[in-house]
Amino acid sequence: MTTLLDPLDLGPGETVVEEVPLWIGGTPTRSVAGRVEDDTSPATGEVLARVHLAARIDVDRAVEAAKAAQPEWARLTLVERGRRLKELGRRIAARAEEFGRLDARDGGTAFRSMKAGAEKGAGYLELIAGVGPELHGRTIPATNGLHFTEPAPWGIVGAICAYNHPTLFTCMKMAPALMAGNALILKPAVQTPLSPLAVAALSEDLLPPGIFNVVAGGAETGEAIVTHPDILRITFTGSLPTGLRVYSAAAQSGRFKSVTLELGGKNPIVIYPDVDPAAAAAAVIKGTNFARVGGQSCGATSRLLLHESLHDEVVERVVADTVAIKLGLPDDPETEMGCMVSHAHRDRVLSMVADARADGARLVAGGDRPASRADLEAGAYVEPTVFDAVEPSARLFREEVFGPVLGVTTWTDEREALRLANDTEYGLTASIWCNDIDRALHAARTVDAGYVWVNDVEVRYPGVPFGGWKQSGLGLELGLVDDILSHTRSKSINIGLSARPV
Ligand code: NAD
Repeated sequence: MTTLLDPLDLGPGETVVEEVPLWIGGTPTRSVAGRVEDDTSPATGEVLARVHLAARIDVDRAVEAAKAAQPEWARLTLVERGRRLKELGRRIAARAEEFGRLDARDGGTAFRSMKAGAEKGAGYLELIAGVGPELHGRTIPATNGLHFTEPAPWGIVGAICAYNHPTLFTCMKMAPALMAGNALILKPAVQTPLSPLAVAALSEDLLPPGIFNVVAGGAETGEAIVTHPDILRITFTGSLPTGLRVYSAAAQSGRFKSVTLELGGKNPIVIYPDVDPAAAAAAVIKGTNFARVGGQSCGATSRLLLHESLHDEVVERVVADTVAIKLGLPDDPETEMGCMVSHAHRDRVLSMVADARADGARLVAGGDRPASRADLEAGAYVEPTVFDAVEPSARLFREEVFGPVLGVTTWTDEREALRLANDTEYGLTASIWCNDIDRALHAARTVDAGYVWVNDVEVRYPGVPFGGWKQSGLGLELGLVDDILSHTRSKSINIGLSARPV
């Protein structure tokens, strides 16, 4: 059996086909049910590892380990918890290349983007560790007694991750949960379990056994976490349909739970007529996230709402930049865009491309598998794709693709543009490009989305809370102290004092 660090030590082109166990109670642990599955690279089909999948009984064991360890962890000072998380962040940053390579090969996404994600995740651990000591309650002068609130940990937090940023999401879930004094049970996405397990191995001498547990697996493992009676705080990142299932399963478990849902989006980028076409096109390309994660990004602005006066020039530039994106093997540092996370997902993306054509949209870039590249033949590749003249009734306008497909819709009237921006069940991000501050602010306030950029796009800033409206979710992440607070529950303590004459 391999140690969990072996996947991190992979050189270019090397594979691990040994077994990678779960991480429970601070140690590599075989699944009791003994389910082991191949973890393959979607770019090459090679088996990267044989991964143990957690059954309910394994989740139960993780809960027992977490329960035993958590009270002592919560008794450590904030400074001490922060010191350990900061050190973990440093270790991840020092091995960002390896994490980048591992995530690239496991999920098919370009190395440079996955390395940047590991660095960002490490940075978030360090930021949370830095602000953690500022966590505090309030005193309330309700009487001349003493009334105060204390932020208390929930005990055990269950975190369920999407596949697109494995190392980054591991850090984002673990930092606030642990800083708040909880133990964590984290389920990576079934497609990308390796780097979260490698993070666990890096934390071995920093975190008491049982404080951070990683249980690989799919829906069954996720359900075991969501319905466990001793896990009262759930943070979930994934799709809308699964988010609804998680919310409902949490309610049906018979326990009241605090549930954060970070879900999908069909996000608009609205370009006003006063914007420089070159700047607009650059923003559109950046917002698609084609060149980072092949459009597999919840916040990607995949609906371009473009003023008709700029249509021809902006579309021409966007098409030129799209076809210039360098597709390649994910672990090649020169690659700008890798492949989709799986062949099944590639086929879903291609079915949406077919439906866009059938719905009357005009294909102006991409639209297929990359035909002329023998090296990409085995992989789950889709060309970066742009459709013009997308009608609001088209599937492409309404459904999240979570892949490299941009739809362009033209507008003439500002009110119509903002109506179209809101004509979606989602409400995650929106980007407004406009040089008139009155109009821009009006648009920003009118769009029903939780995270809005004006003359900016794509970047998420630590400290600025991120979360969706409407069917894009519930609750916020990334808000530093607020993020830690959201992993606590408030206790109010009232102390009556006898009136003592001075
Ligand atoms: P998914 O919903 O298929 O899976 C997400 C996670 O849920 C995985 O770990 C999966 O194994 C688990 N799961 C599946 N069924 C479950 C169940 N019944 N109970 C509990 N857990 C279950 O999503 P995905 O394909 O991994 O990720 C893509 C989706 O995630 C997109 O919709 C994307 O927009 C969204 N996403 C949102 C954010 C955000 O911050 N808002 C970030 C990244 C991705």
